[in-house]
This record gives sequence, structure tokens and C-alpha cells, in this order.
Amino acid sequence: MTDTERTHGHTHTERADACAPAASARSVAEQLAIVLGSVDPLPPVRVELDEARGLVLAEDILTVTDTPPFDNSAMDGYAVIRADLLEASAQNPITLPVVADLAAGTDQNPRLVPGQVARIMTGAPIPDGADAVVPIEDTDQGTEQVTILQAPKPAAHIRRAGEDAHAGDRVLRAGSVLWPTRVAAAASAGTSSVLVHPAPRVAVISTGSELVTPGSPTRRGQIPDSNSFLLSAAVAEAGAIPVRIGAVPDDDDVLRAVLTELAGQVDVIVLSGGVSVGAYDVVKAVLKPLGTVDFGPVKMQPGKPQGFGRWPATDSVPGPLIFALPGNPVSAYVSFEVFVRPALRRLLGQETLHRRTVTATVVDGWRSPPGRAQYMPVILTRRTIDADSTDGSTDGSTDGSTDGSPDNIEARPASRGGSGSHLVAGLAQANGLAIVLEDTTHIRGGDLITVMLTS
Ligand code: AMP
Ligand code: MG
Repeated sequence: MTDTERTHGHTHTERADACAPAASARSVAEQLAIVLGSVDPLPPVRVELDEARGLVLAEDILTVTDTPPFDNSAMDGYAVIRADLLEASAQNPITLPVVADLAAGTDQNPRLVPGQVARIMTGAPIPDGADAVVPIEDTDQGTEQVTILQAPKPAAHIRRAGEDAHAGDRVLRAGSVLWPTRVAAAASAGTSSVLVHPAPRVAVISTGSELVTPGSPTRRGQIPDSNSFLLSAAVAEAGAIPVRIGAVPDDDDVLRAVLTELAGQVDVIVLSGGVSVGAYDVVKAVLKPLGTVDFGPVKMQPGKPQGFGRWPATDSVPGPLIFALPGNPVSAYVSFEVFVRPALRRLLGQETLHRRTVTATVVDGWRSPPGRAQYMPVILTRRTIDADSTDGSTDGSTDGSTDGSPDNIEARPASRGGSGSHLVAGLAQANGLAIVLEDTTHIRGGDLITVMLTS
């Protein structure tokens, strides 16, 4: 226990928290279960297709009509009666009168009788009587009459009504992520708006009297606020809508006022800094007395102090979810990846909450504290095909489509200082977080390790 805590007269429970032996702290899995246990997908809203990209459908989409809705031509050419042209070839060209000119979008339907053809463009309706299309390349392209140089196969180049989907077919199921081709599928089904889980609005607040806006001059003792940028970018990357508030000083009244104002405007508030046991830990000072935010330590490194809960609800406003993350940038990032991102994905209605993992071979070993799961920023590289090469490829990237074979991927710590939670420059090189289990204390070169793919 620190002197600060003693003089502030913390209750017995809080004291037990702060000095917690590892056994009373929660595991990452336990903390994540608490977080996900209090998060449901946001209630569905109807949005125009233009607004739907990337969101998760909350309804099945059925086609209104057959797709395509009518038989139509797959080629620019001539709609024909195939029986007229069974003998056609380059040696035996057959010339027939062209009785109509059918462009895409036309509603004309001239009934062909034997011996007649209609010029037809891609997408135009096949006229009654026609049973094949001869592509323009197999003709002399005539407009009054046309000479045809090849016999069409049965039903050649006709797209049948309902070939893609029949009226009433389900083209998209609830839970589907509306990526571009699915937005198109909804549009082809004749739908102009869809029921989706909306993207949560997420306020991002840095706390610390040492923080200044990046680019402004710093005096001794000041540093640029990087966390509000880090976390806002991560929120956006997760599919949610960041509302970057920036830095507020270590002043209880200021922070309380900012939170009170935000409470009715956002679904989630992500804070960083001020959650440990220092003298000016403003986030803990403001949120702990509310009784709705828990600050139980988690058996992880970095990220041991974690605040999670809700701003108190009022009659008109349900309290937004609150994540109070530690201030060290690496700790804040790891905490976001481990707890906040899965929660945002759940709010979005996503079925996949977690990052993909691969098994990699450790290149340079490191140490991990006993009794805590460690998240080590690592650089993953694909081992070069050349079996003699020992240094591997060095482009620092994977495409995420790795087959997970440990022989193909190597992991090395992203910063030489190890997991130092202030080492932001190293963090920027990392494309994964290696997960070291609670009881493992030494990670050695050649060990296999599970790595979350973060980019
Ligand atoms: P705290 O959790 O508030 O004790 O902060 C821990 C460390 O992280 C301190 O060295 C802070 O200066 C640093 N830190 C906190 N917030 C930020 C931020 N938004 N940007 C950069 N560094 C920060
Ligand atoms: Mg601070």
C-alpha cells in the first residue's frame, strides 16, 4: 500500500485491491467474460443502403422479384430463332432480316417469327419467339439485314429470369457483414434500406496534466498526447465511430464535467491514464465513487489496472459503457485490443469478436512475469522459402492469410527494451501481440507462441 492510499483512507476492500496478491486478481479470460457479459448488439435501426457499408444486417434480405427479373441477353448481338441457323457457318453464311433493335432498358417485345432476327444489346429483354443470341462477332453487324457465320448453341447467351435468385429467396442472412458485394446484393434484391446494428459512437479521452496537443510546443514535463489518436484510430479500425475529445488535465471537476456532458451523446467512453494508485489518478478518483465502475486488477502485463463499467443511467439516458485504460501507450493499446475491441465488435453485432491468431516461432526470447499473461508486441515475418536462410524475410508484414504453420512465421519483440509499456516507437513496428501464458516466465528462441494478428 502506498502512503497516498493510506492518507486517503481507502476502505478495506479497496486496499485489498490495490495490494492484491496475484491470486485475488482476475485472469484476462475472467475480465473479458465480465466485459462481454455486459454488452449486447446495439438495437437495430433502418438505414439507406448508402449508409450500410460495413455494418451488420439485423434482418434477412429476400428478393422482391426474380433476379434477373426477365430473360435477357448476355451479349451484344442478335436474338434469333435457333432452328433458322442450324446450318450457318463461315462457309455457309445465312442472311436474315433484322426486324427490331433492342437496347438495354427497352420494353419492346416484338414477336419473332421464323426467318426474323432482332438486334439486341447486353441486358435487353429477349423478345418472344427468340431462343438464342448470336454474338455480334459472329455476324457482319448489319442493321437492315444481318449475315450470320455460326450456328448458335441451344439458349446461347441468354440469362434466364431467376437464374441468380427467385422471388422470395433469401439473398443475405441476418448477421452478415455488409461488405460492398453484399450491399450490391441487397440493391439487386430491390431493397433500398436495410435493418442494421448501428456503429457505436465512442468518445476517447486522454487524462494527464502533462499532455499537450501534438505539434504544440512542450516545456519541461510535458509530452504530446498520443493515446487519444491511438485509441480513436483503433476505434475506427474496429468499425465504430470515434469522437476524439483529446486530453483533459488531472483535475476531478474538469473530468467530471466532460463525462457528464458526454453521457447523453455516446455509447461508449474510453479513457486512458489515471487508473493506478498515484496521487493524481483522476479517472479512478472520479469514477470509483460512482460505484458503477470496477477497478479490479487483471493478471496481465501490460495492463494490470483496468477500469470497466458504466456511467450511471438517468431516466432519459442509459449510461454509456466506460473503459478506463492505463495511460502508458503500450498498456492502453494492449488493453484496447484485449477488452475494448471485442466489446465494440459485439455492439456492432459482429459474430467474430476476436482477432485471428497464428502460431509463430520465437526468434529472440524474452522474459515474462510469473502469474500474469503477457502481451508482447512482436514483428511477424514470413520465413523465406530458401531453407538455408536463417534471417527470414524482413518486410515486417504478413497478409493475414498465413496458414498458421509455425514453420512459416517468425516472431521477434518489436522493441529491444522488451515489453516496456512506454515504448511507442517499437509498438508502431509491431504487427502482432504474442500471448504468453500466465505461468510461463521464459520465452526462448525456437519456442512456438500464439500471436494475435493486429494488422
Ligand atoms: P498514468 O496511467 O496516467 O499514470 O500514465 C502512465 C504513463 O503514461 C505516464 O508516463 C504518462 O505520461 C503516460 N501517458 C498517459 N497518457 C498518455 C497519453 N495520452 N499520451 C502519451 N502518454 C501518456
Ligand atoms: Mg496520468
